[in-house]
Amino acid sequence: MTSISENILKLKSALPAGVRLVAVSKTKPASAVQEAYDAGQRDFGENYVQELVDKKDHLPDDIIWHFIGHLQSNKVKYIAGFVDWIHGVESEKLLTEINKQALKNNRIINCLLQVHIGQEDTKFGFGEEEVKEFCSRVNFSAMTNIRICGLMGMASFTDDSGQIRTEFKKLKNLFDELKSTYFVNNSAFSEISIGMSSDYTIAIEEGSSIIRVGSSIFGSR
Ligand SMILES: *Cc1c(COP(=O)(O)O)cnc(C)c1O
Repeated sequence: MTSISENILKLKSALPAGVRLVAVSKTKPASAVQEAYDAGQRDFGENYVQELVDKKDHLPDDIIWHFIGHLQSNKVKYIAGFVDWIHGVESEKLLTEINKQALKNNRIINCLLQVHIGQEDTKFGFGEEEVKEFCSRVNFSAMTNIRICGLMGMASFTDDSGQIRTEFKKLKNLFDELKSTYFVNNSAFSEISIGMSSDYTIAIEEGSSIIRVGSSIFGSR
């Protein structure tokens, strides 16, 4: 078995310029995060509010934390003081709360709109038409403490790489359409968060700018 630091170095050396690696450390101890940090990794992703809050106190302050799980509005307040990115924005209620809590903490939080691209019957994420309607309707510039940075998606849980590629292409096309329609003068809208351990090479080929990799770094959960 290779070590966490070897996995980080190997992954980083294979990444094209401009693709950010988020090391997904959910369920792993702070010591595992520290090992990746010592190998030079700075971006980490977590799925659970309580786990993140407990872990970050044992870790360096310059870690860039990405919240990548399902986030309930009533829990935003626990992470708004330190989280840098929230990948799973899927409602106006949640976005409004993130803005409010970020303002209280005098911070700006980077947000990605989660779009449901896979086949699983999940209630998480916007549908394609829904996210277009959302972007046409919401006045993002009035929300001074969030930055809408792009889209996040998860491909179907399948080993059919053709299907995964099709789903990633769909998200990239949607990103391009939203960009040219609603974010032409907004240079922050530039990120596509797709790709996990099993499919990040396909994701990068299809335009990913942020990959979220857990088990290939930290081992299985
Ligand atoms: C757990 C998780 C990942 C990482 O998954 P791996 O298969 O372990 O790489 C990426 N994104 C999200 C949203 C996750 O929940």
